[in-house]
Amino acid sequence: MDMSTKIGEQPEAIRRVTKLYAKLLIAGFALSPIVLIAYLYFFQDPALKFENHLFHEMAIAAATLEGVFVTYVSWRCYQSSGEPLLRWLTLAFLGFTAIYALHGAFTGMAHHNIWLFLLYGPASRLAMAILLLIGLLSFNQEADSPGQRAAPRRWLIWIAAFLLVNILVAILAYSPIAGNPVVRLTMEGGALAFSAINVTLMLIGRIRSPLMTVFGISITMFGLSSLAFILGRPWNHMWWLAHAIFAGGFFFLSYGIIQAFHTTRSFAKVYSQEEMVNRLAMAMVKTESAIQELQRSNQMLAHLASTDPLTGAANRRHFIDRVDAEIARAKRDNLPFSLLALDLDNFKSINDHYGHQIGDEVLQGFVQQSLDAIRPYDSIARMGGEEFMILLPQTTMDVAVTIGERVRSATENAVFESILIPKLALTVSIGVSQFGHDGTSIDTIFRAADERLYRAKDMGRNCVITA
Ligand code: GH3
Ligand code: MG
Ligand code: MG
Repeated sequence: MDMSTKIGEQPEAIRRVTKLYAKLLIAGFALSPIVLIAYLYFFQDPALKFENHLFHEMAIAAATLEGVFVTYVSWRCYQSSGEPLLRWLTLAFLGFTAIYALHGAFTGMAHHNIWLFLLYGPASRLAMAILLLIGLLSFNQEADSPGQRAAPRRWLIWIAAFLLVNILVAILAYSPIAGNPVVRLTMEGGALAFSAINVTLMLIGRIRSPLMTVFGISITMFGLSSLAFILGRPWNHMWWLAHAIFAGGFFFLSYGIIQAFHTTRSFAKVYSQEEMVNRLAMAMVKTESAIQELQRSNQMLAHLASTDPLTGAANRRHFIDRVDAEIARAKRDNLPFSLLALDLDNFKSINDHYGHQIGDEVLQGFVQQSLDAIRPYDSIARMGGEEFMILLPQTTMDVAVTIGERVRSATENAVFESILIPKLALTVSIGVSQFGHDGTSIDTIFRAADERLYRAKDMGRNCVITA
């Protein structure tokens, strides 16, 4: 609850300025390779070369391994969420990896047929840029059904398509037009154009979720790497820089994929941190009130489980618990306590005369009367039928008799207002026992009180009997 108010408390101006600053930071970060490109373009000799085939092969091998891994993680995310954007991301990674691997594999052919080596680079970036753009266009589309996700045919067709591209690039590399700069520039420029369209659409569509921001930054880097490839020449510094910029974008996008994997497994629908905090605050409020509700119903259940529903007095089970607790206390503190066993006299005839309904009301009235007659810390329980017991803590036999007498005479003189009968001949017989005097177990003190209750009945009822 506190969290949501804290967010709301920020002054509007500061909030706006910080938001704008965050946007500028993101744009600055995405465009930072421009500085490096400009530096090389204006201050470096483009003829300087670093031609190291082994290094190139190792770098491409690492990129291929990473590509396979990221493809797999994207595929797992897609299997879990069915999000079309993730399907296209998986295909983009897969296509890139399948085509780019040959760029590495043919490094050694650089002097045999430079185009066989070179053209796989722009081809892989073009394929990836196209697939990523289609991915963006599928943003927020309905999730694919589990059946669609698993269908292997679709994936096999795409793998076949990528292999076909590989073959076509090889054919192109051996064709007479391979050396025409238009070929490479068309592919690289295409990759740049598709990336630019992608980022522009994102900006127009105001797509701002955190992972889509990662997506946008990565695409910007891919576009800039294509720009650097266009400006570079094989093995020169600009060319190497282009590789590095592309790798940066690739790392960052795969970071997004890993984030998706560890959160919602969906790329488009990951919440912003702000939204998360708000949701969390709302969830906490809900949880809080659910807990309170639970506590209330637990209390109600506990009450129901320990109470006689007709009279509201404690039930037998709960009374026994209380007496047990009182015994423990009496033993510990060496204090007395007493019990009254009560049974309404000739209750059957009340039922017979006035009906069961009135009988019930008399039972309720009797409990109310008795509560008035006993002390606040004494308690009454309905043990069954018209039989009751009263626990008198810290009370000796003689005080217990006095209280019993009070209950007895209150009952005898009771006027039940709710009952439209002039005079109800209701009396109660009571047996008294005392902890210690009559034993120290629950059985012995109950039995002593019961025996005295029966004696009270024998002696003509409406009396209190003690040892
Ligand atoms: P005694 O003085 O010997 O105790 O006579 P009694 O009629 O009270 O004794 P008995 O135990 O034979 O009868 C108890 C009666 O209490 C029988 C039953 O109909 C009535 N009773 C028990 N539980 C209820 C109840 O929940 N509601 C009503 N209205 N009557 C009840
Ligand atoms: Mg009885
Ligand atoms: Mg009775």
